[in-house]
Amino acid sequence: MADGNLPRAEVVVDLGAVRHNVSLLVARAGASGAATMAVVKADGYGHGAVPVARAAVEAGAAWLGVCSLGEALALRDAGIDVPVLSWLDTIDTDFAPGVAAGIDLSVSSSRELGAIVEGARAAGARARVHLKIDTGLSRNGCPPNEWAELVAAAAGAPEVELVGVWSHLACADEPGHPSVDLQARRFREACAAAGTPVRHLANSAATLDRPDLHFDLVRVGIAMYGLNPLPYAQDLRPAMTFRSSVALTKRIAAGESVSYGQTWTADRDTNLALVPVGYADGVPRLLSGRMDVLLAGRRRPVVGRVCMDQLVVDCGDDRVPVGEEVVLFGDGTRGEPTATEWANTIGTIDYEIVTGMYRPRIVRTYRDAR
Ligand SMILES: *Cc1c(COP(=O)(O)O)cnc(C)c1O
Repeated sequence: MADGNLPRAEVVVDLGAVRHNVSLLVARAGASGAATMAVVKADGYGHGAVPVARAAVEAGAAWLGVCSLGEALALRDAGIDVPVLSWLDTIDTDFAPGVAAGIDLSVSSSRELGAIVEGARAAGARARVHLKIDTGLSRNGCPPNEWAELVAAAAGAPEVELVGVWSHLACADEPGHPSVDLQARRFREACAAAGTPVRHLANSAATLDRPDLHFDLVRVGIAMYGLNPLPYAQDLRPAMTFRSSVALTKRIAAGESVSYGQTWTADRDTNLALVPVGYADGVPRLLSGRMDVLLAGRRRPVVGRVCMDQLVVDCGDDRVPVGEEVVLFGDGTRGEPTATEWANTIGTIDYEIVTGMYRPRIVRTYRDAR
């Protein structure tokens, strides 16, 4: 339907879908006695951290997880007071405001612990920390040979309260991968050496595929946004729709070409629709000639190269009105492409597609049907 009020580029986030997904994940975790942390780093994977965090908490998430203290404090500023874990702050971060705001902090080394102790002294409060063990991802986390020392340092620091022990899996999205069990074994050993505060290991994939690895808390990211990290189906609803509208239409003659490089030439007279979004708005240029949009009730091909600010759709003999809605991706229920389809076409993961949709030129709106 033509809609005179469509922004040039809009991301619509369905908070009902987020609640549906979180409820499902909370139920899975709850069945093994675990609580759920909703991961809202990177502005909620491009969906907007604060609205998505609120929806997740409403749906039963007891914790929130972010990458940095800045992201954590933004949640507090929005009035969200559930436990929040920040897991990748640099050593020169001023931790005092985080301690004062009751943010849980991750620690991978004695040096990091020292920086947090300083922050706790400055804040005049105890810092809540989660010690992270590297069980095989070789990213952050404390190597096993330094673990005993780190645990002892944390236990000996009156400025910190040891809240959790945690780690992160490398291959949980490949069910049966032998590294998952190896990482789980190393994790259990690390937990045994640290006492038993809140233990957490599972991401979305392990939450759905490995109930035996839920421990006390699961950390779900991609699945709460409705994207399935596993190779088999799940009852998840993609929360993000990316849409625009037709800016201009024209008819071109057979033999005329479209867009930079003239990579596509019409083999018949045809109607074209111009859509005012491009790679500056999150449409990968690699999708040139390899994507469809949903326009006037049908999937139609994008022809020629995707440009910085625009792309062109071949409508054949159909005449579509200027202002008509163009769905670039959505949950797929109307036949439109999905973020997962885009990712598969260009050889990446849907995480990258949706996270890349946080752009200053894109209006973000929320649908919240109850
Ligand atoms: C991003 C992240 C998660 C969430 O992972 P998903 O695959 O999106 O569920 C969990 N834990 C850590 C440490 C992360 O960085």
